[in-house]
Amino acid sequence: MFRDELERLRLEHLLRVINDRTMPSCGNNSTALSRICIAGQEYINFASNDYLGLAGHDAVRETAKRAIDTYGFGSGASRLLSGGTALHRELEQRLAVFKGSEAALLFNSGYAANTSILPAIAGEGAVIFSDALNHASIIDGCRLSRAKTVIYRHKDTDHLSALMQREKGRRNVVVTDTVFSMDGDIAPLKELYDLCCEYDALLYIDDAHGTGVLGAGRGALAHFSLMPESRIIQMGTCSKALGSFGAFVVADRTTIDWLMNACRGFIFSTALPAAAAAASLASLEIIQKDPSLVKRLWSNRERLLKGITALGLDTLNSATPIVPVIVGGVEETLTAAERLKGKHIYAPAIRPPTVETPRIRITVSAAHTESDIDTLLEALAAVMKS
Ligand SMILES: *Cc1c(COP(=O)(O)O)cnc(C)c1O
Repeated sequence: MFRDELERLRLEHLLRVINDRTMPSCGNNSTALSRICIAGQEYINFASNDYLGLAGHDAVRETAKRAIDTYGFGSGASRLLSGGTALHRELEQRLAVFKGSEAALLFNSGYAANTSILPAIAGEGAVIFSDALNHASIIDGCRLSRAKTVIYRHKDTDHLSALMQREKGRRNVVVTDTVFSMDGDIAPLKELYDLCCEYDALLYIDDAHGTGVLGAGRGALAHFSLMPESRIIQMGTCSKALGSFGAFVVADRTTIDWLMNACRGFIFSTALPAAAAAASLASLEIIQKDPSLVKRLWSNRERLLKGITALGLDTLNSATPIVPVIVGGVEETLTAAERLKGKHIYAPAIRPPTVETPRIRITVSAAHTESDIDTLLEALAAVMKS
């Protein structure tokens, strides 16, 4: 049965394969993720979420190594048993301050956070209003919650308002990505927040691609100058701009105490390695001390967008370092990605059913040089010409 399914996927060009990096074989000892080595070939990597180049940063690596020497590698148990360390606690305190809220709780991944938190804040009888383009982990969290899930059109607050009107009087939660991972556009948080106030709903935001990127690194709330309050629950990840691993939720103390008691992905899972918490701490400190990193990310993003626009290519509504480039249908997009690869540019084609409109998905980082970006633009120009 599985063989038939796999064959079907292969015939439809939908079979997924893993491209593991083989760093040392390119003879390059750099740990920067702005380069990727696959099967002995080096590419400029435009497919990493390491927005600030922190994954390979000296201080991040050294801090993680020191934590391994102090605590060992594995944490040995869940947080509620004996898996936590002073580093886990310190990271939670720092994240709460960074996000301007009272308290925080660590999770092992963004996926675990979303699939654990949504069931904990919206059970049977509740209604979750979810943006049509929300991340898969949110969709799965909604399913696990047993709440009624109502999908609103992407970023359409009029549609959402009409839908909320119908469910008045129930326990309501609005959930959204802050930055949408395939289109790179930003959710209208101010309007969403106003609707939540009007209908007395919770606002749950997934700031995976906003943390370290928007609002001078603090994330989407800071970007919109929204103040954290008990109605707002902020989730974020350490696995993207923080160049580390794991995830977190930030909210008022009572909400965090509840989540600690209710989230199955927190209670029944081994704690993050202390080294991961240490790496996240080092990254947070770098972001707060050195604003030039986030600035470089945005100036690189502007350079890229200017170049792509000059080529006459559509980038949908991208407003962030995630830049979709529309080059044609499925076949053209696959060919373009292949030709870019021939020019040592790694930028994957994303196709249906992952997205409706096929595109080359480019993510730019602070670790890219201006010449990296110019190389990409020249390659794109040549590929489009052919
Ligand atoms: C990446 C991502 C996640 C999952 O985070 P992991 O730490 O990789 O599990 C969740 N939500 C969004 C919007 C993401 O982009």
